[in-house]
Amino acid sequence: MHNIKGVRGAPDILPQKSSRWQRIEEVARAALRRYGYAEIRTPVFERTEVFIRGIGEGTDIVEKEMYTFTDQGQESLTLRPEATAPVVRAYLEHQMAAQSALVKVYYLGPMFRRERPQSGRYRQFHQIGVEAIGSHQPAVDAEVIDLLWKLMVEEFRIPGLELRLNSIGDVACRPEIRERILRYMRDRASELCTDCQGRLGRNPLRILDCKQEGCQRLVAGAPKPLESLCEACADHFAQVRSLLDLLKIPYTVDDRLVRGLDYYTRTAFEVVNPRLGAQNALAGGGRYDGLIEVMGGPPTPGIGFAIGLERVMASIPAEADAQTSLDGVYVATIGQEAHRTGMLLLQELRRRGVRGLIDLEGRSLKGQMRQANKDRVRYCLILGEDELAKGHATLRDMAKAEEQSVPLDHVVARLLELEGERTG
Ligand SMILES: [Zn+2]
Ligand SMILES: [Zn+2]
Repeated sequence: MHNIKGVRGAPDILPQKSSRWQRIEEVARAALRRYGYAEIRTPVFERTEVFIRGIGEGTDIVEKEMYTFTDQGQESLTLRPEATAPVVRAYLEHQMAAQSALVKVYYLGPMFRRERPQSGRYRQFHQIGVEAIGSHQPAVDAEVIDLLWKLMVEEFRIPGLELRLNSIGDVACRPEIRERILRYMRDRASELCTDCQGRLGRNPLRILDCKQEGCQRLVAGAPKPLESLCEACADHFAQVRSLLDLLKIPYTVDDRLVRGLDYYTRTAFEVVNPRLGAQNALAGGGRYDGLIEVMGGPPTPGIGFAIGLERVMASIPAEADAQTSLDGVYVATIGQEAHRTGMLLLQELRRRGVRGLIDLEGRSLKGQMRQANKDRVRYCLILGEDELAKGHATLRDMAKAEEQSVPLDHVVARLLELEGERTG
């Protein structure tokens, strides 16, 4: 029999790595709560229609990258390639607009795309994202961007990041923006890459975003969305910028930054790590004032972002994971009677919130002490036959290398007292 391997591009997160993931998830949840976001948990699969409508036919995701299957009930289902469309589906299905004019939710979890497994791309990957649905106000844009920046820089502690900002217009001015780019590019179509020649017909704005060298040369001289914003969009953008200045969020205006789909409007932003090479965007987001209508709801503005957690993990310096401090207690025992006493003590300690470990493999005392070091406990409680006979245990402080003898019926209280002194 051969060993069955996991799916390519869908990595396991092993125990050595999961503590880093947990730290990121914990600090993110705490920060999101402080900004007034509540978690929404939608299923990992949806009716395929949700993504066809919400992401759009003709996009790479829908055309090439979705894990779509027909279930036994002949229903076409898709593993979510992103979460904005499912969140909007839930927002409409549960009439969340009735509960609050501005709905602020976040999600955290795996997404699925059948990408070519190359560096920085996974078939199962993880995102943390937010959606703020219900307001046009520039203050929402500013708060969302402030939140993203705080998460990346202060909570995840990623150095050297850049925040890029742009505005891509709305229903009033987008046709003009599109037309000007189309006119410029059509005359130079032969110099575009094959992908961009296709974009020329469907979505010329996307050409601004192309990473191919030839296209970038053309883009340098192309008309930019910012030059053709209508008055309302220009005013909105100015207000967003002024609020970001007030909040001291450093950004650069990147007039080539666009988002692919028609329902994206006005504010677009991205956080990049210039050291990561081609796949350098760690997070991106923007307004989607047209999306809720596309999904079958009433005209409703919205804005959000998504953070790619795999790229976040790749950007966190090793020292940010500094060895966790010594924590908890290891109960080392000699003989069966001592082991039974130890298990009882440990049960009580764990009930009182202390991290506690005991040998479960019949190791020697020496082996147990070695394990206690490996487990990075602060205290070791040694129960030998002699000590047991006298009703005592030896309590060793692993950091200070000090020992004291403690009566058995005081052990729990003594340990809780010491823990309290350390943490309180
Ligand atoms: Zn191109
Ligand atoms: Zn406009």
